[in-house]
Amino acid sequence: MQTLPAAYLVPLGHRATPRLSPGTQLRLKVDTRRRQKLHFVHKSSTLRVFAVDDDKKTPFDEGFWKNLRKQPKSNVFDGPGADVRRELNVSFTDAILGAELPLNYERKVFCSKCKGKGNLPSSPIPCSNCKAEGRLLEEKSLTVTVPAGVQEGSQLSLKQQGDDGNPAGNLIVRISAPSWNATVRRDKQHLYSDAYVSQEDLINGGAVTIETIDGTEGSLKVPQGTKEGAYLRIKGRGAPEKVNSKERGDHYFRLVVK
Ligand SMILES: [Zn+2]
Repeated sequence: MQTLPAAYLVPLGHRATPRLSPGTQLRLKVDTRRRQKLHFVHKSSTLRVFAVDDDKKTPFDEGFWKNLRKQPKSNVFDGPGADVRRELNVSFTDAILGAELPLNYERKVFCSKCKGKGNLPSSPIPCSNCKAEGRLLEEKSLTVTVPAGVQEGSQLSLKQQGDDGNPAGNLIVRISAPSWNATVRRDKQHLYSDAYVSQEDLINGGAVTIETIDGTEGSLKVPQGTKEGAYLRIKGRGAPEKVNSKERGDHYFRLVVK
């Protein structure tokens, strides 16, 4: 008995997308160790798989390969491509300000040799390049535009960058980003830092040097008689209120005596 191409092997009991026209009956030997045969009975849109004893006669024994050759030369995969999901680590600052970051991942693309049909042109011979799957795994590198304001768990959808199909699936990128770094903590759109001040400046009034998230340095006025632990605020220098929003939260600086 001939061996079926790997494209037709599906786990026992699984329902699979049909790759053969209705009425096709397939017989194949999958697990020689368990001496099992699998029988595919393809009806309407369901591919059913049965396991039977090796020595049992079945109605599908005859004419199997003859039937197989009658299959239309349609794409092995004519359904939509699956979405591909990947996680992308984004730094604290990049999540707030946005960034262009490289991402490498694998996706299934149509086989260039058989053009996704699984068989060689106008023949029932399975394509060896893709093992009759019609598609192959491909390493892909792309640059992800991370919009300003993402945070842990944000998702980006890159249209048609998933598995090939009709249509191709999307690449779903889940953002993983910390909510603090060495000097700044983020709570949604607002940022919090410590600013170091002298006791004299608290009593008499003075100034503290601070740095905003985009790296700009500046100084904030400390009013006379300010208590330690009080917050000074810079409006609009926090994180975007929503992804890509122009409205930004505030950056608060807590006064700490040095
Ligand atoms: Zn191929």
